[in-house]
Amino acid sequence: MRLFSDYHTHPQGHRLQPYSAELLQPWADHARAIGLRDFALTDHDRYHEGVVFDQIERLREANPDLNIRAGIELDNDPVHSAAGRAWVEKHWDRLDFVLGSVHFLRGDWAFDHAGEEAEFARRDIDEVYGDYYERIRAMARSGLVDCMAHLDLVKIFGFRPTKSLDDLLDAVLGEIREAGVALELSTAGWRKPVGELYPSDGIIRQALGKAIPVTTASDAHSRFQMGENFERLAAKMSQFGINQVCVYERHHRRLVALSAEEASATDSRFN
Ligand SMILES: [Zn+2]
Ligand SMILES: [Zn+2]
Repeated sequence: MRLFSDYHTHPQGHRLQPYSAELLQPWADHARAIGLRDFALTDHDRYHEGVVFDQIERLREANPDLNIRAGIELDNDPVHSAAGRAWVEKHWDRLDFVLGSVHFLRGDWAFDHAGEEAEFARRDIDEVYGDYYERIRAMARSGLVDCMAHLDLVKIFGFRPTKSLDDLLDAVLGEIREAGVALELSTAGWRKPVGELYPSDGIIRQALGKAIPVTTASDAHSRFQMGENFERLAAKMSQFGINQVCVYERHHRRLVALSAEEASATDSRFN
């Protein structure tokens, strides 16, 4: 089974770099070189000013063999996300795909930044997890996202809740299912201190029980991270019996079978 799609990439990285052929073409070249045929540009919404739709259109014209999706990663940044939301609403019809994520917790805490282990150690970990999933639910319900990114990012440094979260996660996933939102399988967790796929096997099992479809993703902040560990991800998906992934065009979701890929694509309207 070969994975062909990466629905989480950051061509701008961690700063504003307006889209241009110079910036984007190397990502298309690298995608092609590693066997990807479908990928989404999903820069952080705080850099939305760098997303130049005409440049994405030119990139598509220059690379007709690739499906290149216009996207964004919308999070709950206390400073920038109000403008990010307004931008997503304004450009909804030009966007193919919106990722939803939570990067900030109580007290405007950017919990996933390097060095935040000390703050994890200081806080009540059950309260941290509760706060995190409340914010995930709000994002899933926002009506502005097609797919939830790295659903259990809060585990990034390996701090675990002391109580079972099965019931809470069941409710969270139920809302994701109700909202017609997909779930990302992200290899980024394998390069973080936790060393585990986002989300965990337990969450994947619960999501499958609710027939929530998935995307495959690397969260690449350099083009060389695109498709990272996709063989390993494919092996895990096989173990779970996951044999199709979602692709998006103008927010319309299509499920593509992985064995025969597009040849046996079936239209799927989830709700
Ligand atoms: Zn993220
Ligand atoms: Zn990201």
